[in-house]
Amino acid sequence: MGLFGQKEATEAFVGGRRLHCEICKGELFWKREAQLNTQVATFFNFDWANATATCYVCGQCGYIHWFLPKK
Ligand SMILES: [Zn+2]
Repeated sequence: MGLFGQKEATEAFVGGRRLHCEICKGELFWKREAQLNTQVATFFNFDWANATATCYVCGQCGYIHWFLPKK
């Protein structure tokens, strides 16, 4: 079994566009949800606590792309 329960890294789409790694331009990612604790939520000036961010981890270089929830 692969990382994060996925069998293999897959392509990812954000806002209807295909995601490419910022660092290595890779196109395959591991997806996982990350809980934002209250301190992080405060840092990003959220008006709610314990929101969940979506993370895409590059299958090639491991760079983590974070996407905050939309209001
Ligand atoms: Zn990468």
